[in-house]
Amino acid sequence: MNNCILCHRKLFQKIESQWLFSLKPLSKATICEECEQTFVTFENEEICEGCGRLEKQKWCQDCLRWKEKGYLSLHNRAIFVYQNEAMKDYFQKYKFMGDYYMRNVWQAKFSQYIRKNYPPKKWRYIPIPVSQATMQTRGFNQVEGLIKGLKLDHDLIVAQQSKQVQSQKNRKQRMENHQIFEYVGPKIINQKNILLIDDIYTTGRTLYFAQELVQKHTVKEIKSVTLAR
Ligand SMILES: [Zn+2]
Ligand SMILES: [Zn+2]
Repeated sequence: MNNCILCHRKLFQKIESQWLFSLKPLSKATICEECEQTFVTFENEEICEGCGRLEKQKWCQDCLRWKEKGYLSLHNRAIFVYQNEAMKDYFQKYKFMGDYYMRNVWQAKFSQYIRKNYPPKKWRYIPIPVSQATMQTRGFNQVEGLIKGLKLDHDLIVAQQSKQVQSQKNRKQRMENHQIFEYVGPKIINQKNILLIDDIYTTGRTLYFAQELVQKHTVKEIKSVTLAR
């Protein structure tokens, strides 16, 4: 018997009769029901068309601002609300304190959500890369840690190696271009739609920059998904 990763109480796996007769593997719970209930999902709520946050209007103020700056709108969907104590606490442990084991809390759910809504036949999965500096301090890419059983594509965008790239530009170019990624993929990608995957959507910056690079190289649809918004 396992224990809840978050509160360490014993976990009792509920086995539904439906499952007994199906051939699906039973996905093991990693946290208890009490802990799970402290997180808030976006299910059945009115959300912003662009970023997936709670919003009564079609577009939220943040998304409208990106549009005004000339960016093509994102189509992001998130499972959980980030502005919630449990989720903030989770990311504090997983991402900021670098507790890699914490990936197990949401890995199965996030991967299932992606597989179901963006089937691998039609979609190419691009995790948002982390910089070398982050990789050195944290030791892992927190986005990739949240995904299991899906083939991730590392051949389209990478984090910019700031020194080299920045020095090739003059000052004006540097001021105008805040791009943090670099496109390293083929000239044109047209076989599949592109799903950008990130852990948290806060300002939208990473996803907008990633989309900006990829959109020049594809005629297919680009969407994004995050665990939290
Ligand atoms: Zn618990
Ligand atoms: Zn929005």
